Amino acid sequence: MKAFLLRRKSSSESRWLCLLATLLVSTAGYTDDGPFTTLPYSPSLNPESMDRSANPCEDLYQYACGGWIENNPIPPDQSRISTYGKLYVDNQRYLWGILEELAQDDPNRNANQKMIGDYFAACMNIEAIDQAGLEPLQAALKSIQLIDNKIQLGQLIGDLIALTDSSNFFIALGSDQDAKQSEVMIGTIYATGLGLPDRDYYVADDPQKKADREHYVEHVTEMFRLLGRDDETASRDAATVMRIETALAEASLTVVERRDPHKVYHRSTLDELEAMVPALNWKALFDASGMTPKPWLNVRQPGFMNEMQQRIDKESLDDLKVYLTWGLINSRADLLSAPFRDQDFAFYSAYLEGIDEQKPRWRTCVSLIDDQLGEALGKEFVDRNFPPEVRDQVKGMSEQIHQAMEERIDQLAWMSPETRLQAKEKLAKMRDKIGYPDQWRDYSSIVIKRDDFFGNVTRATGFELQRQLARIGKPVDRSEWFMTPATVNAYYNPSMNDINFPAAVLMPPLYDPRMDDAPNYGNTGGTIGHELVHGFDDEGRQYDGDGNLRDWWTAEDAAAFEERAQCIRDQYATYRVVDDIFINADLTSGEDIADLGGLILAWQAWQAETADQKLQAADGLSPDQRFFVGFAQWACSAERPEVLRLHAATDPHSPPRYRINGVVANMPEFKDAFRCPEEAPLVKTDAEICRIW
Ligand SMILES: [Zn+2]
Repeated sequence: MKAFLLRRKSSSESRWLCLLATLLVSTAGYTDDGPFTTLPYSPSLNPESMDRSANPCEDLYQYACGGWIENNPIPPDQSRISTYGKLYVDNQRYLWGILEELAQDDPNRNANQKMIGDYFAACMNIEAIDQAGLEPLQAALKSIQLIDNKIQLGQLIGDLIALTDSSNFFIALGSDQDAKQSEVMIGTIYATGLGLPDRDYYVADDPQKKADREHYVEHVTEMFRLLGRDDETASRDAATVMRIETALAEASLTVVERRDPHKVYHRSTLDELEAMVPALNWKALFDASGMTPKPWLNVRQPGFMNEMQQRIDKESLDDLKVYLTWGLINSRADLLSAPFRDQDFAFYSAYLEGIDEQKPRWRTCVSLIDDQLGEALGKEFVDRNFPPEVRDQVKGMSEQIHQAMEERIDQLAWMSPETRLQAKEKLAKMRDKIGYPDQWRDYSSIVIKRDDFFGNVTRATGFELQRQLARIGKPVDRSEWFMTPATVNAYYNPSMNDINFPAAVLMPPLYDPRMDDAPNYGNTGGTIGHELVHGFDDEGRQYDGDGNLRDWWTAEDAAAFEERAQCIRDQYATYRVVDDIFINADLTSGEDIADLGGLILAWQAWQAETADQKLQAADGLSPDQRFFVGFAQWACSAERPEVLRLHAATDPHSPPRYRINGVVANMPEFKDAFRCPEEAPLVKTDAEICRIW
């Protein structure tokens, strides 16, 4: 896919974290604006964003967000626009301001500031990058051409992975906690190797996917032409790539199958891996990439490995070189000169996502630094912008939400005492990470030069891959974050059993220290609740408090949970996304459960927090109404049909309108807050209401 982060561990296999929102493919920048020296303020409940002509009992989303949608047309270089996306862009412009300041060759910069400033300076030097053309990649391209037998493929693939950390060469390498022995870090073999976003793009029969495939083949052909191949060779090579990738796709698990943690857990020894794919010299691959295959590995998709064996065994060496060459250029095209960047954009952004214009260079550079040196940039961001008092306030809110969950577990009529005890134990072990890590990452071993953009990216990529692989065989570092402080998002990690809220997601218009508790609990409280409930959604509940994949449920309680989860799936499956596409509720189930449970917890925590206060109406809204409007306004957004289609196939989150309306339809507190009549669309009877937690 498009962004560096996505391409490295491609969308077809990624580290399993439950995110609050899918942002990476959806937010480009505004081309005509300058950097910010401070972050602009907008309140967490904004009356101007509302559409008071709409009836909240029919469509709370329209009521809370109608004005916002009116006031925020989708810019031409974006596929969607959202409150999160806007905050993201504001943040980017603020980070731009920081980096532009630090890019000045000033002797007073500290080591951290010098590193990110020099990286930015090199990245912004587009003339030098364009002048270099394909040169930075020549040595690696040559290394593919130089091999003359398949024995050498192991080392070659290892070298290519070490250089790019890409998922384009059949597999990707990483380290994870063992799903069943969570204190051990093990090596993971991801099944990847595809250039299109997911395996369905290769196998689905519908006209849209067929057109996508044709465009993809044209794109690959064009890239081979840019490498200097004649038309006939380029189109033959593109057909080879498509043939190999289609075979791999057919052997890959679907996106829904990959949500089942048991389907992607296959503890294997090196001997077993060698037996799965005897055609590859694995020792050479591991040596070259820096990975230690001990004490054992998780080979996520053995079925895929069988197909990999078939490909390596049956394809000619020349065809395998074509596939690897495509993988290399596809992993690096957006770091090269304009012809490569433009062609890459034309397919992945313009065609697949409907984005009209390339994002400005500064945006690319800010994203790259956040991706590669994220905690160095994050430290600057936090020092300037996130005071300890706000961190403490959010910690207090988070404690209230834990408390609410504990009370709810105690009250659940459908749960037996045995399972209840286990659920409470898991909750007690869940950790909160708020704002930023206690210990900042040390990047000082990476050489950053002011005049070597490609080299900087490559060295930082190597640093991160080796950091990942060095964890294998070591105890788990439970203080580690998988998101940077400047990221506008949040996550739950089931193996760590922790919930994580970077500083950037705890700022207005999301968390607003100037605002009353009602919208803050509706918005940020709902977010904290959402992440907490991921520990207890249909996937998260399969892990215990130590992060092990272990069934702690009695059979009856598991059945009772499933019945309630099915109620939510049945509800969301009735919602239409675009054209004739409905929500794939098997895919969105975990997020839908987290959205609903999260807001119920936020409501209860808010009630507890404000129990002895006399709450005031404001902006023509009662305190209860402010809670729900504040909640809904986190999701205000507009999308192009292309992105709705793409997300319907790949995004585990339901579209924003249903993340709001679908939740409140299950909360009688909402009906009461707006005095909705029984027959209103967003009111269900007690018997119809879906609730798990
Ligand atoms: Zn989530």
